[in-house]
Amino acid sequence: MKVGVIGVQGAVSEHIEAAKKAMEKLGVSGKVFWLKKPEQLESIDAIIIPGGESTTISRLMVKNGLLDKVRELGESGLPIIGTCAGLIMLAKEVDGAIEEQRFLELLDIKVNRNAYGRQVDSFEAPLRLTFDEEPFLGVFIRAPRIVEVFGKAKPLAYCRNEVVGVEQDGLIGLTFHPELTDDTRLHEYFLRKAL
Ligand code: GLN
Repeated sequence: MKVGVIGVQGAVSEHIEAAKKAMEKLGVSGKVFWLKKPEQLESIDAIIIPGGESTTISRLMVKNGLLDKVRELGESGLPIIGTCAGLIMLAKEVDGAIEEQRFLELLDIKVNRNAYGRQVDSFEAPLRLTFDEEPFLGVFIRAPRIVEVFGKAKPLAYCRNEVVGVEQDGLIGLTFHPELTDDTRLHEYFLRKAL
């Protein structure tokens, strides 16, 4: 299996480690690599878009010629997971974007980019996953908020009663950072879509 982590900015190495561990647990062999150039998209099986700063990720994905190519792959069904800023990149609608920001516009959700403001800009909370009974530790860092789920998107994770993760066919978007915990369940769930 070939998995690329969009490696222009953000928490890239943490996702690489988490995806490698998840592959081991699934008993799948393959490579997880920093994805920087469109040439690396050839015969790829899944893409991870990390957290960071969505304005910077957007600018660098356009500059490196990745944005349109990744969108085409997503439209054709390639599994893509975005966490935090990566979720913003996947969303069809974004509140609080800056004018030149471009998005992949694949996931049927509306997000508010910096919804929690300064006072609660980072926090941890137990989450409920739709596919497993065991709670998941949600690590939120200047997290966006999912303010609307429409079309084909379905909830995947809840924090209290709020949707903090969604899936839509091969796509997953999370407002939190599973790569900053030792829990690989979400990475495993994602990579199963690429098997
Ligand atoms: N709110 C940030 C943004 O707009 C995302 C924060 C994060 O990825 N930790 O990019």
